[in-house]
Amino acid sequence: MIDGRTQLIGLLGWPVEHSLSPAMHNAVFDALGMNWRYVALPVAPGAAAAAVRGLGPLGFRGANVTRPHKIGVVRGVDRLGDEARALGAVNTVYLGRGEEGERLLVGENTDAQGFIDPLIRGGFDPRGEIVTVIGAGGAARAAVYGLLQAGARQITVLGRTLRRVEHVVRDLDQGEGRLRALPLTDETLVSSTTRSALLVHATPVGMRPAPEGSVWPDRVPFPRDTLAYDLVYVPRRTKLLRQARAAGAPCLGGLDMLVSQGARAFELWAGRDAPIDVMRRACEAALGRVDR
Ligand code: NAP
Repeated sequence: MIDGRTQLIGLLGWPVEHSLSPAMHNAVFDALGMNWRYVALPVAPGAAAAAVRGLGPLGFRGANVTRPHKIGVVRGVDRLGDEARALGAVNTVYLGRGEEGERLLVGENTDAQGFIDPLIRGGFDPRGEIVTVIGAGGAARAAVYGLLQAGARQITVLGRTLRRVEHVVRDLDQGEGRLRALPLTDETLVSSTTRSALLVHATPVGMRPAPEGSVWPDRVPFPRDTLAYDLVYVPRRTKLLRQARAAGAPCLGGLDMLVSQGARAFELWAGRDAPIDVMRRACEAALGRVDR
């Protein structure tokens, strides 16, 4: 029931109607008996900073931020958390306290940790490992940053627009030479993946409504000792993951990242552990309606 005491969390994006986050977070509030609701707020392009400044006066407890506002919201918050500052993008806003105890809107980014958590839970520790990441957008940046923080030895970033890949490497390089940028071709993909313990796919290739797509060439067997981590989660078993599984390689799908970044956001808003199983089941139920 929504009443005068209901606490609100918003999702700022455009469009927002297909997001799984309302189902995921409202299931948590119900399971924990919290009088909180998570509502999708369509915010037109260009209005992100104004919208986030309105959260405090409207009494919101916090928000998630999704495309296309993750960068625009940076200008609307009072303070940035470490990960948001490193990535130059915000996906979670929560109420914090300043040095004098005053209320502050804090912008944080839970995507990098949300990317790493499923790897660790699945028994893969990136420390000392060689990794290949495909993509140069927000998801690839979060993955590369998370892998650097987790101690990966060398990360090759592949993308179809080399200039954008070089930007990622330049922005995130910590001066240790652990990152390199290459153009995405069948040859660079196969040779880099074969040397890697982990391949991360962070482009929309293979996503609905074009699930027949895959960055991996049909005629080349996937290396069976490389973990394939596809950040696409609709469909859940992408063609890339099916290619990897057919070769006997271990696989991880993007739903785990979605749930983990949401769990980290919940912890920032509510100050308590998130019930990950509840979140995952809510996403699976919502996805079951579209992922056929
Ligand atoms: P984005 O910022 O738009 O970046 C997309 C990247 O994919 C760009 O580097 C783009 O290349 C590349 N790309 C697009 N189409 C391509 C193609 N046909 N061939 C090769 N490269 C292509 O998107 P994003 O936010 O990073 O998201 C990327 C994917 O990750 C999406 O499928 C999204 O659903 C998924 N994702 C999952 C989660 C999760 O929680 N599981 C979170 C975020 C994103 P250019 O640089 O040349 O444009």
